[in-house]
Amino acid sequence: MSIKNNLNNITSSISENVTLIAVSKTHPVGDILEAYQAGQRAFGENKIQEMVEKFDILPKDIKWHMIGHLQSNKVKYMAHFVHLIHGVDSFKTLKEINKQALKHNRIINCLLEVKIASEETKFGLSFAEVAQLLKSDELKTLKNINILGLMGMASFTENTSIIRNEFKVLKVFFDSLQKYKSFNVDPSVLSMGMSGDYKMAMEEGSTMIRVGSAIFGSRNYN
Ligand SMILES: *Cc1c(COP(=O)(O)O)cnc(C)c1O
Repeated sequence: MSIKNNLNNITSSISENVTLIAVSKTHPVGDILEAYQAGQRAFGENKIQEMVEKFDILPKDIKWHMIGHLQSNKVKYMAHFVHLIHGVDSFKTLKEINKQALKHNRIINCLLEVKIASEETKFGLSFAEVAQLLKSDELKTLKNINILGLMGMASFTENTSIIRNEFKVLKVFFDSLQKYKSFNVDPSVLSMGMSGDYKMAMEEGSTMIRVGSAIFGSRNYN
């Protein structure tokens, strides 16, 4: 199967209110161009340096999504172009994004990463921490960020009922966030679902899916 065919298969199975992010991490720019030529414009990377290198040489109407865990000290390298940062899991990182966005006179869109999986190693905030952050007075001082919603990764398991339940729980929590709506909080994006579970994620209310290997084939690392 070609990248184009893979993309067509996925886009024909998703509804209008779901955005497909083509996760191109570790794949060469030639593969991204193939997807671009098939009409795909949103791409996701998990390493800032790799995303910057690709941004520099690829068409400028691509929307770049940072889906990986963030190191605050590297935010500055992508602040001039990143479209949406999915993996924000601390106030410190939000502050740094705000600072760098201000330098470029931009407002940077962010998602808060929520820990829904049972594994110890996964990053992310608890529901209580998200609520605390969204109602904090300090958040109101960050004029150059816009929190658009939540991102979650389900457990790495073959047990689909565990995965479905994690998506369900995240969706319920997401729906409860409307009460925090303000000038820099607008909960409208729920980023959940990857190659193995995006169909289930959509059934459970995802509005943004991050699909890599089902488009570009398997990766050697990451
Ligand atoms: C790599 C990655 C994906 C895509 O994974 P696939 O299984 O290849 O679709 C999605 N989300 C995040 C956060 C990732 O790091």
